[in-house]
Amino acid sequence: MTALLAPPTDPFTASIATVPPAVRARMDGVSWHGEQPLCPRWDDLAYLRLSHVTFDGGVAEGELVVAAKLAARTVELFRRLWSLGFPIRSLRLVDDFAASDDASMSADNSSAFNFRFVAGMKLLSQHALGRAIDLNPVENPWRKPTRIVPDEGRAFADRQLIRPGMIVRPGPVVAVFDELGWEWGGDWLHAFDDHHIVWSRRYRSDAVCAIGSTTPIARPIT
Ligand SMILES: [Zn+2]
Repeated sequence: MTALLAPPTDPFTASIATVPPAVRARMDGVSWHGEQPLCPRWDDLAYLRLSHVTFDGGVAEGELVVAAKLAARTVELFRRLWSLGFPIRSLRLVDDFAASDDASMSADNSSAFNFRFVAGMKLLSQHALGRAIDLNPVENPWRKPTRIVPDEGRAFADRQLIRPGMIVRPGPVVAVFDELGWEWGGDWLHAFDDHHIVWSRRYRSDAVCAIGSTTPIARPIT
């Protein structure tokens, strides 16, 4: 068994847009909090529609909100996951779960932007800036020796028993993260956060993604 299914024969499709009014209405006061000075402005965010492989070997289209400066990089990431045949359970905005990270994780939902603090801390999450993406949290639970989150991820505590949708090192999905420059939470020392990836580098122009900005930003906390 591997983490992958057969790659789809259909072409990958994706779109990048400013967050449409109907989506803003879904997010306002839920994952987005304009009254908070640190919350990204609408122009700082992008709304993506992305095709992905499903666990039954089919294909589906999902949605994701990320930092606008990461939009092209995120599309490239999902294009690569599609090409590998990496299945994604659910790709819906966290607003469909009332911006509850726990509820979204328990539903095995993959998501990105959510203006929130790190669980149990007063530190702004990378998700609050749209710089982090969670992928298949049930197949890739957050783990410490004494704790697994979400609870539904207990069946995947054995990281040697590789099943579809899992992210392990060494493995093809982490190889894509490495190649494209994403930091993987499974490499962290304080806990294993196998579903979490983050763009922790400066935004910079690059020929592949043509992001265009050379403005460094302060390194956000965790
Ligand atoms: Zn995360």
